[in-house]
Amino acid sequence: MSSFEIKPYPEVWQALDMDVPRFDKMRLMMGDMYAKAFLGQPNRPAAMTYFDNMIAEIHGGRVKELLAAKAEGRPVIGTFCVYIPEEIVLAAGGICVGLCGGSQGSVPDAEKILPRNICPMVKSAFGFKAARICPYFQAVDFVYGETTCDAKKKTWEILDTMVPTYVMEIPQCKNPRDIALWNEEVKDFKAKVESVAGKTISEEDLAGAIKVMNNKRRALQRLNSLRHHNPTPISGKDGLLIEQIAFYDEPVRFTDQVNSLCDELDERIRQEVAVPGKGATRVMVAGTPMALPNWKIHNLVEGAGAVIVNEESCIGTRYFKDLVDETVTGMDTMLAALTDRYKEIDCSCFTPNNERISQVVKEFRDSKAQGIINYSLQFCHTYNIEEIRIRQACEQEGIPYMFIESDYSPEDIGQLQTRVEAFLEQIGE
Ligand code: SF4
Ligand code: SF4
Repeated sequence: MSSFEIKPYPEVWQALDMDVPRFDKMRLMMGDMYAKAFLGQPNRPAAMTYFDNMIAEIHGGRVKELLAAKAEGRPVIGTFCVYIPEEIVLAAGGICVGLCGGSQGSVPDAEKILPRNICPMVKSAFGFKAARICPYFQAVDFVYGETTCDAKKKTWEILDTMVPTYVMEIPQCKNPRDIALWNEEVKDFKAKVESVAGKTISEEDLAGAIKVMNNKRRALQRLNSLRHHNPTPISGKDGLLIEQIAFYDEPVRFTDQVNSLCDELDERIRQEVAVPGKGATRVMVAGTPMALPNWKIHNLVEGAGAVIVNEESCIGTRYFKDLVDETVTGMDTMLAALTDRYKEIDCSCFTPNNERISQVVKEFRDSKAQGIINYSLQFCHTYNIEEIRIRQACEQEGIPYMFIESDYSPEDIGQLQTRVEAFLEQIGE
């Protein structure tokens, strides 16, 4: 376990105008956190080696691939939300990377500029750019934000002074006129990506990209349903890790690796190899996304001997549950099919958002969990308020339920541990 290291690439960081000494310290801290959280787990699938390596290379190997793409004139675009259609970036030969921040390390940098009482995900992501401590942020040609929540949409105005920042207007409702606006936004996004890539996306390009993304989603759906097996063949921590890596790995390679892992998990199920062990209490988490390296809830739950079997989250099922229709032809119809697929994402930023309430209950049943931990980041108003409806639905359905509001700091870990253990005791048999 002690031999694990996130590899240093100081020459790459220097060339990206990063704060190298500061970033190198963060690299060491993240490596330690990773080794403690992941590498001591018993009975890990052998195919997790690839994903361990993706973390070891997170600050260099993958970054070099982005820089090589840029050198070929291919655009590299940073995004913060699963509403931005990645297919369009891929169709233009570009690379899309998720820049959402999940680390406390960059929050104080953001708080020098932004108000303190906004969501830690926004602060963490912004702090990475403000302090020049994220190679992905430094490598992107531009970033594409959206108008999902107030904290984000006002932060884009400030971020634009540091890196070119464009904004896709995502409506707040899903009436026909809202969808029509959204479809126009998808067309504008395509035009922007084409202008940076210096190429016009053909129907064939887009059809190929839709297939790549659908195959990636199918692989993640397959992994998710294997996690639903009782006993589950893989830990929740490893499941979450793969969902996090999905946001920066090359999609075709990633899909192959997830499918290889699933083949191994199929075999484990046949041989009744269980992680962490038969009879472990099964928990589903719902709520705000857990961006890399936010493993706080998973560490607490699995540290107490239970297992997480599903994430109802954008770093989870909201990212991969819906596919784009592959049968349509004609650019306008294909863009409408993209809009249709993306509008199915049930983020709490929408009103009403009844689909999500039923989706949470459905995923609970599908995953054979024994209870739900609904997780919201501090100051995320939409998820915090939607908590009321999720709680009511759980009461009606007789689903054991616990709500956690937290941030990235370690200060509440002791108190959360006590609450999580009490909940697990209540739902365990
Ligand atoms: S929670 Fe909402 S705003 Fe955040 S990534 Fe998901 S869809 Fe986007
Ligand atoms: S977690 Fe909530 S507040 Fe934070 S960026 Fe996402 S929607 Fe906005």
